[in-house]
Amino acid sequence: MNHYKNHSCPICGKSYHACSSCENIRSFQPWRTITDTRSCYKIFLILNGCRKGSLHSAEAKKQLKSCDLSQLDSFVPHIRETIQNILEKEEPDYDKDDKKLF
Ligand SMILES: [Zn+2]
Repeated sequence: MNHYKNHSCPICGKSYHACSSCENIRSFQPWRTITDTRSCYKIFLILNGCRKGSLHSAEAKKQLKSCDLSQLDSFVPHIRETIQNILEKEEPDYDKDDKKLF
């Protein structure tokens, strides 16, 4: 059903349906035209900020840790690598404590 799942998420790679002319997307869910879920959109914005240089890697790392990365293994490969690179940047590792939040 290609016409139904007409978008694929650039973050997790999942196919989903979004209609850019639907009212609920225009007014409430503009991120649906880019990613399948709000958490993917958050990741998308962080990675975008990094690429453009508007987001410092330390800040990106902090923000990524507040995202749902439980599906990281199934993300689009280059996205997963980018996220892992950011998360692996030096800095103190508070990773273990954060897992409780998920
Ligand atoms: Zn997604």
